[in-house]
Amino acid sequence: MTAMMATERHRAQILDGRFAAAAIKREVAEEVRSLQEQHSVTPRLTAVLVGRDPASAVYVRNKVRACEEVGIGSDKIELADSITTPELLKIVRALNADDKVDGILVQLPLPKQIDESIIVEAIDPRKDVDAFHPINVGYLAMGRPRFVPCTPAGIIELLDRNQIEIAGANACVVGRSQIVGRPVASLLLQRHATVTICHSQTRDLPSVTRQADILVAAIGKPAFIRRDFIKPGATVIDVGVNKITDVVGARELFGADADKRIEAITKRGSTLVGDVHPAEADEVAGNRTPVPGGVGLLTVAMLMHNTLQAAKWRRNL
Ligand code: NAP
Repeated sequence: MTAMMATERHRAQILDGRFAAAAIKREVAEEVRSLQEQHSVTPRLTAVLVGRDPASAVYVRNKVRACEEVGIGSDKIELADSITTPELLKIVRALNADDKVDGILVQLPLPKQIDESIIVEAIDPRKDVDAFHPINVGYLAMGRPRFVPCTPAGIIELLDRNQIEIAGANACVVGRSQIVGRPVASLLLQRHATVTICHSQTRDLPSVTRQADILVAAIGKPAFIRRDFIKPGATVIDVGVNKITDVVGARELFGADADKRIEAITKRGSTLVGDVHPAEADEVAGNRTPVPGGVGLLTVAMLMHNTLQAAKWRRNL
């Protein structure tokens, strides 16, 4: 038995997003019920979907479905690809003024002709459940977060609910986007991690990421984080969502799970991989999030949490 264990290969523990997401949604559903009972208030989210991007349509569908699961009311406004910035602005302003709407979500990216920052900045910060408005970004940067962007908030929940200690840890975030990299770095700092932010100009990236007890990859490049980027025993949070279609590549990437993934490519034409090489991370990391089934599920759950908060804050509850 001991000899067998000695030859067994190390495999990172998988931080399954399903459990944490289900727990958060259960907690939100309970609070929604008591808000209804005590104050006759049902939180309401309006999602605005512009154009026909299939990925955006799936994201919005999942968000509306999650609203139904937790008892939050929802509306979906679908708009033509050809809409102009002033026309979209008018819709956002109408939603700001609509007392029945607690949360406004404009699904990004928007078509090329729309000035995204004008739209994001037009959303009432009190209804900004995505937390992209400069006022909410500013509060977060000051260490006094109100709304927190859903993916970074979900990452912190995933760490907390798996008892992964943040305070004092060396945390490294690869990526400095407004929606993931920067806000997750702010949150980790607020929770007393020692935070390093890396990007495309970082010199000798693996030597920096190898210092991290908590490594967050938000890059948008399939399987970019390899074995030599990871400190043995580290917790690796994989934010990336990338489609791959190559069967040979899938065999190399997914190790023991390869057959399942190859079947997916054969049936549907593609499978998803994150920014972390899963088979190599499994050999070195202590924990890692899977793609799919990791951070993405938490993102939707935190949107429900933010919509509930919006409904409460607007009414000073
Ligand atoms: P983004 O805006 O494209 O930012 C990518 C970041 O990665 C940039 O800061 C970039 O550096 C950095 N980067 C690019 N190449 C690099 C390299 N060779 N070495 C080091 N850093 C490099 O991406 P994002 O919006 O944050 O999204 C990242 C990934 O997460 C995507 O796959 C996206 O689909 C996924 N995502 C998932 C969720 C979810 O819920 N699961 C939510 C949001 C995003 P520079 O700043 O120097 O260019």
